[in-house]
Amino acid sequence: MRIEAALGDITLEAVDAIVNAANPALAGGGGVDGAIHRGAGEAELHRACATLGGCQTGDAKATPGFDLPARWIIHTVGPIWRGGGFGEAELLASCYRRCLEVADEVGARSLAFPAISTGVYGYPRPRAADVAVATLKEAETNVEVVRLLAFDAATLDLYLDRLD
Ligand code: ADP
Repeated sequence: MRIEAALGDITLEAVDAIVNAANPALAGGGGVDGAIHRGAGEAELHRACATLGGCQTGDAKATPGFDLPARWIIHTVGPIWRGGGFGEAELLASCYRRCLEVADEVGARSLAFPAISTGVYGYPRPRAADVAVATLKEAETNVEVVRLLAFDAATLDLYLDRLD
């Protein structure tokens, strides 16, 4: 599996599947979740999410991408940062692993991730980049290309540093 880092808006990525940093209700929200819901089409994606019965922290579930360039959206729920002593790193690693498993289930070979948990969920960006890159490097999957999508230059630098 090749791991790339890039700067940009994940809703524009022409990959087989993009990952959404969702909430447990899969109800849509702000940040990347809101952008993905707008790009996919709010009504259709909302209906698809409503059939899934929510999603636990560290787990992932797929819907179609509807109006997005990506064929699939893999919704995952990252941990809320509570200081690091509450299993946050293991839960965040689980998000990356479960997204790859779900990508394998739907047959996605290319996948783009946002920086899960680093927005309103407050996970420190350097530590989240550590977990993302280390977990992806260890994973066994049929996914061929993973793109780590940074939404700001500082996050891109964190990824590039760890991919060296
Ligand atoms: P969380 O609740 O998991 O913290 P957020 O959506 O608040 O999720 O933030 C996760 C990350 O997604 C943040 O680093 C934020 O900068 C980034 N982000 C927000 N919008 C986009 C987008 N359109 N494309 C890629 N990344 C985005």
